[in-house]
Amino acid sequence: MDLKAFIRDIPDFPQKGVIFRDITPLIKNPDAFKYAIDTIVEEVKKYEFDLVVCPEARGFIIGAPIAYLLGKGFVPVRKPGKLPYKTVSDTYELEYGKAELHIHEDAIEPGQKVLIVDDVLATGGTALALKRLVEKVGGTVVASAFLIELTYLNPRNLLKDLPIIAPIKY
Ligand code: IMP
Repeated sequence: MDLKAFIRDIPDFPQKGVIFRDITPLIKNPDAFKYAIDTIVEEVKKYEFDLVVCPEARGFIIGAPIAYLLGKGFVPVRKPGKLPYKTVSDTYELEYGKAELHIHEDAIEPGQKVLIVDDVLATGGTALALKRLVEKVGGTVVASAFLIELTYLNPRNLLKDLPIIAPIKY
């Protein structure tokens, strides 16, 4: 299936010069959504991990079905002031602007292995912040998975040798 056909390009969103890849047409289409999740699941199956760690909000849409299908736990990473218990945080640069993410301090048992999942891998800043958060609370990231990788922003420079799975590439 040509998954790219379900991605809508929005020029100059959220600011001038950025082409925003809108995943809403893909996740609205039952066949495309299923095919995309199943494709990622087939690839991430090759790695051993205990938990799927995802940032809000679009990350949840991709990460939760992957965790469910593979029988793994799900750990949410959220913006400031959203998680109810004690948190650990990380601040990082985005493709557009700055951001801060939080994880519950007891979200991961020492030594647990983690798959990071988000909707879009752009500069890699968010994925790197997720990796740092996981490590701060005692886990190890074994791989990362996304619906879309924007290769022209060179996210692999930041993520180094971390395995990256992404069925749609620009
Ligand atoms: P990065 O930190 O630069 O890799 O940006 C990735 C984060 O920004 C992810 O959490 C995405 O949800 C969001 N993002 C960046 N570019 C896009 C896009 O074109 N479409 C949808 N989300 C995007």
